[in-house]
Amino acid sequence: MQSFNHIFRHHNRSWHSLLLLLFACISFTGCGVQSTPRVVTATPTLVLSEPVVTLTPIPTRPAGDILAQITRGPDNTFLATHTPIPTVTQSPTVDITNTPTQTIEPTETLDPTITPSPTVTETPLPTNTPTPTATPQLPDLPEVLQSPSISQTIRVPILMYHYVSEPPEDADKYRINLSVEPDRFRAQMQWLKDRGYESVDLYDVIEVLANSGEPLEKVVVITFDDAYIDNYEIAYPILEEFGYKGTFFVPTEFIDFGYEGYMTWEMIEEMAAAGHRFESHTKSHPDLSILKRNDHVWQILGSQETLAAHIGYKPRFLAYPSGRYSDLTLEMVETLSLWGALTTQGGTWRGFHDRYEWKRTRVSYGTTLKDFEVVFRE
Ligand SMILES: [Zn+2]
Repeated sequence: MQSFNHIFRHHNRSWHSLLLLLFACISFTGCGVQSTPRVVTATPTLVLSEPVVTLTPIPTRPAGDILAQITRGPDNTFLATHTPIPTVTQSPTVDITNTPTQTIEPTETLDPTITPSPTVTETPLPTNTPTPTATPQLPDLPEVLQSPSISQTIRVPILMYHYVSEPPEDADKYRINLSVEPDRFRAQMQWLKDRGYESVDLYDVIEVLANSGEPLEKVVVITFDDAYIDNYEIAYPILEEFGYKGTFFVPTEFIDFGYEGYMTWEMIEEMAAAGHRFESHTKSHPDLSILKRNDHVWQILGSQETLAAHIGYKPRFLAYPSGRYSDLTLEMVETLSLWGALTTQGGTWRGFHDRYEWKRTRVSYGTTLKDFEVVFRE
């Protein structure tokens, strides 16, 4: 013990340094042991961070692609350096938001073909409008007419003419029957004028019914089917002479194709500018009662749009060609937001509820003033 103490005392210094060395050694190995797992844990952190890093370049890539496209387009290499990076990084965001909007638009334009929405129907109108001098305005009625608060029926004669001319000598009975001699036509207009009748159009009639307005007194709607050239050459000057406005139902393809014996678009535009109405008689005058849904759209909406391009507004009325229609036709005219449609059946009373089956009074060859007068008897 003594010797140990002696040694200890003697070698106090060296003992002390030995302890220090040992301590340092432990702490060193301690550090060494601890530092080894730290290296291990450091590695996964680096691995983990890698995907985070790879995520960032993904949005940058399309920007680079767009930049590459922009650069590739023009031959000038300076343009590539010109394109500022912020503009490129913005353009993909614009592209992405643009793409869905663009894909929705075609769907909307497809819709009207099947179930036409009013918005799209009106879009093609301004495209090729050779606006007449003074376009008669339509009454301010909603796109889709709502049932009126008060249901009423009013008596408004709607006259139906076809040809206003002497039939040719070789004319068959149908052609003869569809013709009204010019003198008789003038006499009929004179008769109306003498009794104080005013001419109105179908918009005036539907407006009263849709808004539960005051019934129209002493009025008549003068309609012509098929757009024969004598409507312009003979009927139009006579109508003007008496201050009357007519409503003409046009099979628009007959005019488009320039068929002989039919009015031209120039004639129609002139009369429309003078305040006469031009309404749909379909495109090619088919038998609507045997047509499918899409053919109805083509025939009715197609003719409305063609007319709109020439007269400056979309007409809202249809006359069924040869008076033929089916339940599907009735469904389609409502779907197509027409305001009314006319048959060839006889009758003078009309309401909002039967607006797609309004009846008319046929004026035929040989219709005397006595026959004519009957229509207007109270
Ligand atoms: Zn017809």
